[in-house]
This record gives sequence, structure tokens and C-alpha cells, in this order.
Amino acid sequence: MTKLWVNWAGDQQCTPARLCAPRDQAELSAELARAAEAGHRVRVAGSGHSFTETCLTDGLLLDLSRMNRVLEADPATGLARVQAGTTLAALNARLDEYGLAFPNLGDIDVQTIAGATATGTHGTGGRLPNISAALHAVELMTADGHIVELTEESDPQAWRAARVGLGALGVVTAFTLKLVPSFVLEGVERPVPVDEVLADLDSYIDGNDHFEFYMFAHSPIAMTKRNNRVDLPAAPRPEPVDWFADILLSNHAFDALCRLARRRPGLIPWIQRGAAYAGSYRRQVDRSYRVFTSPRLFRFTEMEYAIPREHSVAAIREIKEIAQRFDSPMPIEVRWVAGDDAFLSPAGGRATCYIAVHQYQGMAHEPFFRACEAIFDRYDGRPHWGKRHYQTAETLRGRYPDWDRFAAVRRHYDPDGRFANAYLDRVLGPVSATEDAIDQLG
Ligand SMILES: Cc1cc2nc3c(=O)[nH]c(=O)nc-3n(C[C@H](O)[C@H](O)[C@H](O)COP(=O)(O)OP(=O)(O)OC[C@H]3O[C@@H](n4cnc5c(N)ncnc54)[C@H](O)[C@@H]3O)c2cc1C
Repeated sequence: MTKLWVNWAGDQQCTPARLCAPRDQAELSAELARAAEAGHRVRVAGSGHSFTETCLTDGLLLDLSRMNRVLEADPATGLARVQAGTTLAALNARLDEYGLAFPNLGDIDVQTIAGATATGTHGTGGRLPNISAALHAVELMTADGHIVELTEESDPQAWRAARVGLGALGVVTAFTLKLVPSFVLEGVERPVPVDEVLADLDSYIDGNDHFEFYMFAHSPIAMTKRNNRVDLPAAPRPEPVDWFADILLSNHAFDALCRLARRRPGLIPWIQRGAAYAGSYRRQVDRSYRVFTSPRLFRFTEMEYAIPREHSVAAIREIKEIAQRFDSPMPIEVRWVAGDDAFLSPAGGRATCYIAVHQYQGMAHEPFFRACEAIFDRYDGRPHWGKRHYQTAETLRGRYPDWDRFAAVRRHYDPDGRFANAYLDRVLGPVSATEDAIDQLG
């Protein structure tokens, strides 16, 4: 039986010594004991939607997709206990039955809740932090099979580390989520000149619950998306309309244009201007999670950086300009979130603008992404942990005020680096290097 594991984008793969999907804590702890005996290091894969090497291992690779239940939910308190391998899609549907919802979500819903929170996955909304801010408790199994329940009260330092933990502390087995009552969103998409958006950016961000836009390097038009809570009944679009908008236009037609661009890069400016011109007004009134997310059927790779919100306009202009010098048919996406206090959250301690650049499958991404990264570096950018970047522990440490605190928690929960891999060695450094930080735990 092949043990090859490949991520969604198809550009990260590994052949672990053992790949298994435990059904419960007992099976999981037996797997960890067996890995210890064999001297294997351990990683967990969620839905494989990270573009980085974060899941890769030649040791034990765990898949928690069979630990995928909502264990309990209480509409009165807004608290729900869920297993870590549950996908956001499954959670959204189940939680809605209890009248509960996430206050904010990203573009897609196929990630697991553990994978999404481990990398600081986010949506958009100047007043709303990233998805991991909806965590109320994290249940973690350490390498020796021991279970700890981390909350703000039980261990404030570990709590701030575990919310965006990069899979570096142990296997997350369950969460308690703090949710909000279900709500309906009105989503309005409208093309607006980029210059017009940037001239009045704060009003767009602060005047909407959720504001984002995407734009093409070679077009002056931004496709804006405003999602706002409304006191209206959900009016799901008829299925054929959904299919036409989300599947045919946004996926198949755009995929065909990208394939053409890959064959004939000289056409990219024309393709982008045409695609932006074809962008039209769209309105949707539906349950929040159906407005936030949509399917992504074609493959690409991505870099995304979190920069301080006050630099939004300057950085957006620079990224748009540099993108004109590289051959990528894909858009630049811009979003905003509120700051939070997780040690390694890219939005930690500051109101944040996220800027993402993409490259279509089979086209060179590295020169383009490196040129963008040089710009993000000047704005004290922090990379999305699940998206491509070229940083190391040395270049990142100064960008996170609580870096050493995270290192100390990591050393406490995984002193032997059993949950490390080459990616974590690169971006966090080896666990042993954190010895001098142990007194940070206080
Ligand atoms: C098409 C597409 C759209 C995307 N849209 C957005 C977006 O809108 N906003 C955004 O911020 N990001 C977005 N992303 C990035 C994505 O949300 C993150 O990369 C996320 O981490 C993927 O979740 P996953 O379940 O696939 O986790 P994986 O990628 O499989 O794993 C991510 C990390 O979590 C760890 N992990 C997973 N489960 C556990 C566990 N039980 N215990 C310990 N560690 C664990 C893994 O080891 C790994 O380090 C998108 C990615 C794609 C491909």
C-alpha cells in the first residue's frame, strides 16, 4: 500500500514511515507510543490545504479525519465541544442546527478546525480577529500520550501559544469553541477603481462588517466584496445560479484563462483586463457561512503576508506594481483583521492588513514571491504559516514580541522535538535552541 501523502496544491509530498487515522484517544496514544519506540517523529495533517512543508515527515503522519464529531453544543452559552479533525464545512452545518456560527471565516471551508487554527487562518473584518480567536479551550495530547486541557485560566502562557501552534506542541484532539448566534449576511460584490478604494480605504474597512477586494496587476479595477449582517431571512440562490457564479465563472472559466496564460504569458495583461472588466455586480443574502466561503477547484500556490494596517495603501500599491513585472495571471487579494494575543498569530498585537499573491500551477512562483517578500519585509511583514515564504527563525524572531515565550512553551510540552520537522526547524528553530528562553515561562 502506498504511503505517499500530497497536499491539496500538489506541490508538497512525503512518504511517511507510517500514515494512520486513529479513531479515538486510545488509538492515538498507542500510535504515539509505537512511534516513540521506532524513533519516529510525528506530524498531523489536516485537509492538506497549506502550501508550505508544514505537514511533511518521514516518521508518523497522523490523519484525524475520523475524530470528526461535534461532542456537545449549548446555544445558551455559545460553547461547543468539537473534535479536532472536523472540517469547517461539517462544523458550520452542524453548529447551525444549534443556532450557532463562527463570527468570521475565510474563503473556503474544507480545512479542519485544527489545521485552520494552527496556522492562524483568517477571514476579513477590521473589528474581527482570526479564526483561532474563537477558541475557548484546546485539548492537547503530548508525545507520552498525556492529555492536557489548555484555557486562559489554566495556563495563560500555553493558552496563548496553543491557539496558533503550528502543530509544534503536540496533537490537538479537541477544542471548545466560543461561537455567536447564527446570522444572515448580505454579500455585495462590485467592481470599483483601485484608486477610488485606496483613497477612502478606512471607510470601506470600518464601514462594513467584512470588507475585502481583489485586483489584477494589469487592471485598474478592484473587485470589492462587502459582507454585512442583515435582519433578513436567508434567501439561498437557486442551485443553477450558484453553479454558474461559483463553479462555471469563478472556477472553470478562470481556470481556462489561466491555462491560456501559462501557454502564452504575453497575453496576461489582456486576460487580466478582460477578467476584471467581466467582473460584475453580485448580491447574495444567505446564512453567514454560505456567504463567506466558496469552492476552489483549480490548483495554484500562494504567499500571504500580514502587515500593520497603517501601511495598507503603500504596500498594496507596491505589490500591484511589482506584480506587473512577473508573469502571473492570478489576482492579488487584500483583507483586514483585528489584532489578537496568540503568541505566533501573524495578526498578534496589531490591526492587520493581509495581502496575498498567487501563482497558477505549473508556472514559476519563486522569483515573483521573493520580490513580493522583499516588500513585505520592509513593512515588518509576518508570513501566513500555511502559505509560501522564505523566512527562517532568525529572520522571524524580531517580528514577534512573544517569540521566546512560544519557544519556552514548546520546550515544556515537546522537550525532545518529537513534533518537529524540517519546516519547523527552519521557521522556529530546533527545540534545543530554546533552552535560554525557558525562564520566560516565569
Ligand atoms: C484554496 C485555499 C484557500 C485558502 N483560503 C484561506 C483563507 O481564506 N484564509 C486563510 O487564512 N488561509 C487560507 N488558506 C490556507 C489554509 O486555511 C491553511 O493553510 C490551513 O492551515 C489549512 O488547514 P488544513 O486542515 O488543510 O491543515 P493542514 O494544511 O493539513 O495543516 C496545517 C497545520 O496544522 C497542523 N495540524 C493539523 N491538525 C492538527 C492537529 N490535530 N494537531 C496538531 N496540529 C495539527 C499541521 O501539522 C500543520 O502544521 C487557503 C488554502 C487553500 C488551499
